Amino acid sequence: MATHHLKLIGKHLEYDDVAILDFVSVDDKKIPFTPGQYMNLHVSMSSSDFGNSLSSRPYTIASAPSDTFLRFAIRKRGSFSSMLHELSNGTSVIADGPYGVLCPPLDSAPVICIAAGIGIAPFMSWIRSLAADKENSRPIFVLVSNTAEFRAPFLKELIALEKENVWLSVKSFLTKQSDSAEHPAMLRRIAIEDIKNVVLFAPDASIAICGLSGFVLSMQQAAQAANVPKARILTEAFY
Ligand SMILES: Cc1cc2nc3c(=O)[nH]c(=O)nc-3n(C[C@H](O)[C@H](O)[C@H](O)COP(=O)(O)OP(=O)(O)OC[C@H]3O[C@@H](n4cnc5c(N)ncnc54)[C@H](O)[C@@H]3O)c2cc1C
Repeated sequence: MATHHLKLIGKHLEYDDVAILDFVSVDDKKIPFTPGQYMNLHVSMSSSDFGNSLSSRPYTIASAPSDTFLRFAIRKRGSFSSMLHELSNGTSVIADGPYGVLCPPLDSAPVICIAAGIGIAPFMSWIRSLAADKENSRPIFVLVSNTAEFRAPFLKELIALEKENVWLSVKSFLTKQSDSAEHPAMLRRIAIEDIKNVVLFAPDASIAICGLSGFVLSMQQAAQAANVPKARILTEAFY
């Protein structure tokens, strides 16, 4: 297990409940990873939930390997994620990894990335690294679901990247927004037909799905119903 000591060098709130944390390795060495991988962040906790111990949770690297920092996007949920929101710049944490296989398939076929909420994090790493490669022509179709635009992590950045890169197509779905959104969006959940429409356009595409487990399961079933072979469906559930 590769263990690293990281220092927090930048922190900002993307939204009230999503903090963006940028770390560097304290020894200034770059940590190699493949877009889509995660690390376990360990922090010393003293609370009724954790006792007085070093606890850890997995978090996905949202930056590209070429970036000078490791970026994590943390949605506040329970004690551990809330505590990460409270870290101040300069704080050191221990991390192990990187781990995980939600990485771009090695062929050059199109990929349909389906994400809910903070599940967009691995695809931000994919897309940022493809955008850094000026030769990239691999088509990426993003179907991203959020409750409302004001809680949609990285949506503005995705829309900006879509304008700059012809290979990127982004469709936003907002499940609890009733009025119009700033960016074009479907005000409903992602449906099988949405996946079928992209598959008709890109029949050899792989599908990668990330979000909470219920979302991942229903999108996996929808992808199979759209006749995408199991071998071309990648998933990661944030539990
Ligand atoms: C591969 C992967 C990547 C992820 N990437 C991200 C990401 O990029 N951004 C993000 O916001 N979230 C991510 N998550 C979710 C994240 O790891 C946490 O589950 C989330 O932040 C909620 O943790 P919490 O302790 O604050 O919430 P809680 O609701 O208290 O706990 C959430 C989970 O932690 C377990 N748990 C609770 N207490 C303990 C304990 N003492 N020891 C061990 N486990 C415990 C619970 O059973 C539950 O499954 C990812 C999860 C996985 C599996």
